[in-house]
Amino acid sequence: MKSALSEFEKLTINALGNYPPSRVALLQKELGIVTIGDLLNHIPIRYLDKTANINIADLQPNSGQVQVRGRIESVEIIGARNSQRLKATLCDLTGCMELVWFRSIPWVKKSLSIGQVYTVFGRVSEFKNVFSMSHPELQVFDAEKKEEVKGYIPVYPLTEKLKASKIDSKFIAQLTKAAINHVNFDMPEFIPKRIIEKLELPSRAIAYKTIHFPDRLGDAKKSYERFKFEEVFLFQLRNERTRLNRITNSVGPKIVKPGYFFNEFYNKHLPFALTEAQKRVIKEIWADMKSGVQMNRLLQGDVGSGKTIVAFIAMLLAIDNGYQACMLAPTEILSQQHFESLKEWATPIGLKVALLTGSTSNKERTEMLEELASGKLSLITGTHAILEDRVVFSKLGLVIIDEQHRFGVAQRAKLWLKSNPSPHILVMTATPIPRTLAMTVHGESEHSIIDELPAGRKPIITAHKQEKERIALMSFIKNEISKGRQIYFVYPLINESASLEFKNLMDGYDVVESFFPTPEYRISIVHGQMRPEDKEKEMMRFKNGISHIMVATTVIEVGVNVPNASVMVIENADRFGLSQLHQLRGRVGRGAEQSYCILMTENELGKSAQERMSAMVKSNDGFEIAKIDLKQRGPGDLLGTKQSGLPDFKFLDLVKDEYFIFLGKQAAAYVLREDPTLSKPENAMLKRYLLSHSKDNFWSKIS
Ligand code: ADP
Ligand code: MG
Repeated sequence: MKSALSEFEKLTINALGNYPPSRVALLQKELGIVTIGDLLNHIPIRYLDKTANINIADLQPNSGQVQVRGRIESVEIIGARNSQRLKATLCDLTGCMELVWFRSIPWVKKSLSIGQVYTVFGRVSEFKNVFSMSHPELQVFDAEKKEEVKGYIPVYPLTEKLKASKIDSKFIAQLTKAAINHVNFDMPEFIPKRIIEKLELPSRAIAYKTIHFPDRLGDAKKSYERFKFEEVFLFQLRNERTRLNRITNSVGPKIVKPGYFFNEFYNKHLPFALTEAQKRVIKEIWADMKSGVQMNRLLQGDVGSGKTIVAFIAMLLAIDNGYQACMLAPTEILSQQHFESLKEWATPIGLKVALLTGSTSNKERTEMLEELASGKLSLITGTHAILEDRVVFSKLGLVIIDEQHRFGVAQRAKLWLKSNPSPHILVMTATPIPRTLAMTVHGESEHSIIDELPAGRKPIITAHKQEKERIALMSFIKNEISKGRQIYFVYPLINESASLEFKNLMDGYDVVESFFPTPEYRISIVHGQMRPEDKEKEMMRFKNGISHIMVATTVIEVGVNVPNASVMVIENADRFGLSQLHQLRGRVGRGAEQSYCILMTENELGKSAQERMSAMVKSNDGFEIAKIDLKQRGPGDLLGTKQSGLPDFKFLDLVKDEYFIFLGKQAAAYVLREDPTLSKPENAMLKRYLLSHSKDNFWSKIS
């Protein structure tokens, strides 16, 4: 297969000249640099500014590393015997400064000649109005000779081993310079010409030249941006190609027109008026399901934005067209709750719903499986239990996955196979993720966003309180309870140890109980070590208003819906991530009453914990919170999984480079729209590049 890289880039760095084999081997071992291409892709982390000499009179205390040219006027050894230094005075027409050495004093002294002009480079410091440089780089200035070092000098990432073996930035720069000189602006380009021109990107050859040896820092920045664009463009091409592939080649269940169930529910039994955002999203979903192509849509919406009813309406459409629909959730409690919502909505229109989880009895299960296989049952919700092989559908048309990050790729693939044609897929996120991140991680899906909360919700009031304010907090809570409200106290998972978590929770329980003694107050408790049926029982006690207070670990994190609960106290709130805090906060504010979220912490907090608390107090907006979370934790942690499908971007910063992510996606869509198989001549190099750089045979399948 022909590569899109030039032959030159594939040569090993030995082709650049005669370098000691030990050094070449070390470069490979430490930095993975084997070929000239690898070398070119070893990008400077910064540059030393040797473009201009600074006048000594213009030196600033914080000017960093600078270059000065002047005459050495005096050289002397000063200080007591054990703290000797060598001090030279360097003067130009505007003033004088000091050069100082603490080591190699005799040797340096011998090499300096008074009256000689030198170019010196180093970091400037100031003391009592005198500027000095210690251990500067030093070069005799010869007006006749062309200067060797000039311009912006690249500083490369190095390892300790390399430094110990005297392989420095200078050595790498020397190699790179040789490569760049050889390329001499002539390198194959795989970003289509039209895009290069439209976006005014430097060509590949120029980008390499200027990122290593810029004449101006602005040029280096432009080159950096080119590589950023290239990275995201290539990544999005693949996403876009997968998406187009599905659109052109897949056949989806045909969900064409609404029927009895949809009409009955929508016209007569809607429990509330849908928000505009909900209506828009339902239309988007329906348009997909009608299209004859398999849907793969991501539905994002803040906690409490009402994703469940949207899912339910989509399921009604599927059922009206003779298909079955299922809804998956990652936990028992959550499935149980979905089941209750669905049942509440489905029963009045005469539709049966089933719940299948690990704790469904054998008898019930057997019956359910029979009804699913025969098609008698069309609506089911549950946990991973639905994925089991023995669960066979007669005609599955729509799968809803709630909180997709807890389902692996393999598990999702199982669903694909449960029906032919494969069912439509609607994935709902637990907490929103920033748009740009969604566009990258879920680049092959269509996206819908519910960006509006149901009317009449009072924004939750969030406050950050410290331990010393606990008594006041408890009397506030007493007052809420006296008004008929219910309260959550949530404790973090201190570490991996379940017993510690338990102890922490029990200590918390004791504190709560001391303020709210039985029999006047009833307290429920739920934690990870309880049997599912006991958990369920406690949850139901709280939900039905029998207990006033729920003390729990994060098992209640997702989805739990108790509209009468108005206060969420999060203990040791600094131990939670932002998205998790927001998710917990979403457990209150579900009813008509004013709700509160209290973040309890110790008195002293670190900077990032402090930032999290302020973000929560300031904002109720999940997308906003997710953005801050992304900045704090990075994409890997925010998505909560290592297999998030994100590549290691070298240039692209998923937090900051929103603009490039949009641009890359747009360009990829444009190229493939004009030329879906990349067969036009102007895309030939691009196709060749993709063919030779994809780990799998993905791109060869498209021609
Ligand atoms: P989430 O998007 O977090 O899953 P839910 O679907 O659980 O949110 O909805 C939260 C609550 O808001 C539920 O009690 C639901 O019945 C209610 N709800 C949803 N949509 C509306 C609406 N348009 N008007 C009023 N209440 C709504
Ligand atoms: Mg939900």
